[in-house]
Amino acid sequence: MQRPIQTYTDNYGQTIEFTIPIPHTKICINISGGADSAILLYMLINYCEEHIPEAEIHIITSANPIKSWKNAKWSTTVIDQLLHLTNTTLIKSHYTFYSDDQRRTELDDTEKMIQEQHGITFTINGTTQNPPVERSKTFGPPTFKKRDPGHGMLTLYVRDTNITSWVPFRTADKRIVAHLYKHFDMLEALFPYTRSCEWHPHVFSSANPGDGHCGECWWCKEREWAFGRL
Ligand SMILES: [Zn+2]
Repeated sequence: MQRPIQTYTDNYGQTIEFTIPIPHTKICINISGGADSAILLYMLINYCEEHIPEAEIHIITSANPIKSWKNAKWSTTVIDQLLHLTNTTLIKSHYTFYSDDQRRTELDDTEKMIQEQHGITFTINGTTQNPPVERSKTFGPPTFKKRDPGHGMLTLYVRDTNITSWVPFRTADKRIVAHLYKHFDMLEALFPYTRSCEWHPHVFSSANPGDGHCGECWWCKEREWAFGRL
């Protein structure tokens, strides 16, 4: 028998189906400190507590200068808050890797290492679709290639390393994430503990936002667009 599938649909017709397929119990999730992966971890914890009590959740975080090293700090803040909210004991490890950029290959290599160490068979990534291009263009630098309509993009696929990868938000933009925060009543309990800002002194003339949100960078504007607030 398969495990339950939980379906969520936002006001814009975007749907995600949340399930961890049998036989996976050893799960790795990439936590960025942003809102997308934070709500995904919240849902994963609750799903496992209810349906996979033997699950082991392993977390990977990147520390890199592009986010002024703050992604490592904010990822930890998110995990602390989720431990507080859920009282879970299913999180078994948290590994932070250094990267001087944000290369996908470095995350892949780290996932491979954690897989070998802990016998991971399932990985989750919270990447979302870009907003509609007309909106995205107004967000300023950096510019992005246009929105993929979702054709040919699998959200669940088996990689050559024998890891099944799941990117549940891949065909939905950040508005589905805002919907999930509202649905789970997490707009006050979790959202303020997340941060997406990528302010950089060479790009923006505004003051360093420190632990706050600059409100100017592409990621702050995407966040404000989806949530109506920073
Ligand atoms: Zn910002």
